[in-house]
This record gives sequence, C-alpha cells and structure tokens, in this order.
Amino acid sequence: MSNKVLVFGHKNPDTDSITSSIVMANLENQLGNEAQAVRTGKINKETEYVFQYLGIEKPELIEDVEDGQEVILVDHNEATQCVNNIANAHIQKVVDHHTMNFVAPYQLYYRAEPVGCTATVLYKMYRENDVEINKTIATLMLSAIISDTLLFKSPTCTPEDQKVAEKLAKIADVNVEEYGKNLLKAGTDISEFTPAEVINIDSKLFEKDGKKFKIAQINTADLDDVFKKQSYFEAAINDEIKQENLDLYVFAATDILNSNSKVISLGNQANVIEKAYGQPLDHNTALLEGVVSRKKQILPKILENLD
Ligand code: MG
Ligand code: MG
Ligand code: MG
Repeated sequence: MSNKVLVFGHKNPDTDSITSSIVMANLENQLGNEAQAVRTGKINKETEYVFQYLGIEKPELIEDVEDGQEVILVDHNEATQCVNNIANAHIQKVVDHHTMNFVAPYQLYYRAEPVGCTATVLYKMYRENDVEINKTIATLMLSAIISDTLLFKSPTCTPEDQKVAEKLAKIADVNVEEYGKNLLKAGTDISEFTPAEVINIDSKLFEKDGKKFKIAQINTADLDDVFKKQSYFEAAINDEIKQENLDLYVFAATDILNSNSKVISLGNQANVIEKAYGQPLDHNTALLEGVVSRKKQILPKILENLD
C-alpha cells in the first residue's frame, strides 16, 4: 500500500483522466499533502501526444487498490468505471464533471461542476488556493479541455471552459487552434489497435435496473475508413457482450470534422437507438447527426429508452 494518497481517473483513461490526475496530485503536493498520480489503463494516442509534446513521464499503471488505500478520484465517480477494489479503499476527495452516481458511508470532499472538463474545475481550485499554474500544468489542463470539448465544439462545452482555456493557452504559450487540431488528430490514429482494443480505447460501463451496457467512443476524421472494419468491430463487440453478460453495446465513431456520430448497436437492447433517435438500425448502424457527446447526447437517451 502506498503511503501517499493515489490520484486517478476512470478505467480506459482519456486525456482528462490522465492529465487531471497529475494536475490534482500537484495541487495536493503544493498544499502539503503527499499525493501521487497513477493511471488505471493504457494511455491513448491523443494523451501520448501530450506527453511527447511536454517531454514528461507517464504516471505509473495500477490494476487495483489495496484495502485501506487513501485515494482521490478525478473525472469519474461511478464504481463501475473505477479501479478494482475501490469499495475497500478510502476516498478522500472526488473532483468531477459527470452525473453523480456515488455514495460513501463517510464524509469526504466532493466537488462536481456542470462544466465540460475536470481541468476547468481544477483551474478554479488552483486559483482559490493561490497555487501557481506553471507552463506544464497549464498545457496538461488545456489539453484536457480541448479533448473533452472537442476543441469547444461539443455541447458539453460551457463559456467557463472556453474562458479557462484561453487563460491556460497564454500560460502554456500555445496557439489553441493549431495545438488542438494536432492533439485531436493524434487521437484518431487506431492503426496499431486490434478491433477488441479499438472498442475499448474509451468505453464506459453503465448499469440501470439490472441492465448492463457499455457505450464506447472513438474520434475520427474519416467515418468510412472506420466502418471498413465494421464486421471486425461487431465480432469483438459480440464477444464482449457474451463474456460480460451485457444487454447492450453502443460503439460510436465521432466525426470530429463534421460533428456527427455513426454508431454500431448490438445486444438484446440494440433497438434502444431507434427508440431514442427515431432512426431504425441499418445493418446494426445509425448515423446520428449532430451527436458528439456521450454524456449529454447518448447516455441520457439510452437511460430513458431502455426496456
Ligand atoms: Mg473522461
Ligand atoms: Mg472529463
Ligand atoms: Mg470523453
């Protein structure tokens, strides 16, 4: 067990989960609390770009936490998305920007704001505590905001995210448009992943009334290119449905240039897509115009329309 409090984001970590762990651990350290950022999964290509750009080390990988471990969660709160054995750890703090599905039988610091990114909340915490934001920390935060808001194009993006990003860009000394496009483009590279890996680059598990489902998302600049491999993705998805007893698997490829998503929907609840969007599935797929956000435009519709 680590003597330090471990700070981490959700499984299948995205840029916000990784960078916010580092940013939060730094804040804790600056305030005199010994903290260490760790990660709960493989770094994706987009996040890889950030580490290469900054030339810094990646956080250490952990598979689970030991009983009694002190932890801080960022960018998530649901146990289904958290590291194994979280029920036996002691959660000191949660800093998040998602729907709350969290209970703890003890007092803790819980902060979630309806903004586009954990980094936006962390920026405010740095300011409230008069802790300096250096160039590296600013670049990490800015990368998370760009990633989570798809360069401010997602409906999850708030004026606050945009304002904070502008301030961070000055400290980071980057051109947001240029850096942002390069960052998002780096994340669309799935050439080195197997179909089973692609469907889990960014998948999240949810449960409602005993129904288990996953929503996975990848970014792309070319939907046709992704769907050339549809049959391989379907095989991987069906395997996972069987192995994990899922009722539904929605795999969304989000076109970051045109702000649409094409989904593959499989499982005994696959038709939830038709109910939610009024669009029948065509060969297990549907093109959802204007849909880019899992949190705002996919998850709530699925929760509402499950049988
Ligand atoms: Mg995230
Ligand atoms: Mg996030
Ligand atoms: Mg995301």
